[in-house]
Amino acid sequence: MPEWYGSFGGAYVPETLVPALKALEEAWRTARRDPAFKAELARLSREWGGRPTPLYFAENLTREIGGAQIYLKREDLVHGGAHKFNNALGQALLAKRLGKTRLIAETGAGQHGVATAMVGAKLALRTEVYMGSVDMERQKPNVLRMRLLGATVRPVDHGAKTLKEAINEAFRDWITNVQTTYYLIGSAVGPHPFPSIVSDFQSVIGKEILRQSKQAWGGHPDLVVACVGGGSNAIGTFQPMLRTPVKLLGVEAGGSGSSLAVGSASLTKGRPGVLQGMRTYLLQDAEGQVLETESIAAGLDYAGVGPEHAFLKESGRVEYTSVTDREALDAFHRLCRAEGILPALEPSHALAEAMRRARDLPKTARIVVTLSGRGDKDLEVVAQHAPPG
Ligand SMILES: *Cc1c(COP(=O)(O)O)cnc(C)c1O
Repeated sequence: MPEWYGSFGGAYVPETLVPALKALEEAWRTARRDPAFKAELARLSREWGGRPTPLYFAENLTREIGGAQIYLKREDLVHGGAHKFNNALGQALLAKRLGKTRLIAETGAGQHGVATAMVGAKLALRTEVYMGSVDMERQKPNVLRMRLLGATVRPVDHGAKTLKEAINEAFRDWITNVQTTYYLIGSAVGPHPFPSIVSDFQSVIGKEILRQSKQAWGGHPDLVVACVGGGSNAIGTFQPMLRTPVKLLGVEAGGSGSSLAVGSASLTKGRPGVLQGMRTYLLQDAEGQVLETESIAAGLDYAGVGPEHAFLKESGRVEYTSVTDREALDAFHRLCRAEGILPALEPSHALAEAMRRARDLPKTARIVVTLSGRGDKDLEVVAQHAPPG
């Protein structure tokens, strides 16, 4: 479990949190070797979470595009409708192991809040979720879901009133209540050891892809594509493949795509800096002030990115690119009509880039796209935009 990924990562936190982070690292080191822990995680993932998820050949889409074969890793079929479950369950089991009685989390679009509320209910841990008041207004159904699952939603009313402020508030709570409380972070971000823990819990995605592709065609994929917000579904997909010859591609949100806009593309348009406990690529102005981000996909709307991605970008092992709101919307409609699947807008970014690459690859090549979640949460946003021409 590296504290640093090259010059990225680390743990930029106040003194008071250092013992808690050390205890967490220790708990995780022993848990991941403990057969009882692994069995419980596997059982709940299977029986409650619906794992393993299928690797699905998108035959109609492939035929329409006329290039490489496109496969989808169906994380949209996980309990709760997104890959967030994999991480929330793993960390909640760690919280139990550490003897904590209370979970706190932050959420932007509400997907991670819902996943945390689910595991809080199942494992009988009191759950409080910080959410910007602007996001609460934009994501009412998820606020209701969290409340129905027994969680308390705490509105955050300062700054831009969105995800960055919610994370700051969760850290503040954790510093005050660290004895009783587990901070269940929602992506592969934050101070060490969180990025490594989240990456490890999400690596079930990449392991299943390798196993399933071996079963399906006796080899590995040629290209694997995932969207990058904080970077958890992407790192979980890529981790088990880093030492294979598979080409890896991360796709960030390019926002409106105008020449001035940075969207939420920290890796493609940002510079290294320190935010929320880690050194990583950030969208910032000349003075180092963190910029406001924009994306049609709420789950990608974050100025930072997990430190392991920053390292994988600099080392050249993973290629990163960005896709605009419009391109993601077009890919969304394309998948709905070709395959009868409503994808979330976040993985629609990955899908758009995968379709572009498929055209230039031979029909024998195989691309796997991690479909990180389903689109039910995005119907209103999609309806507000013009349908495809
Ligand atoms: C939250 C979310 C994302 C972005 O988070 P990562 O940590 O980058 O994976 C992507 N897709 C869906 C469906 C999400 O809910």
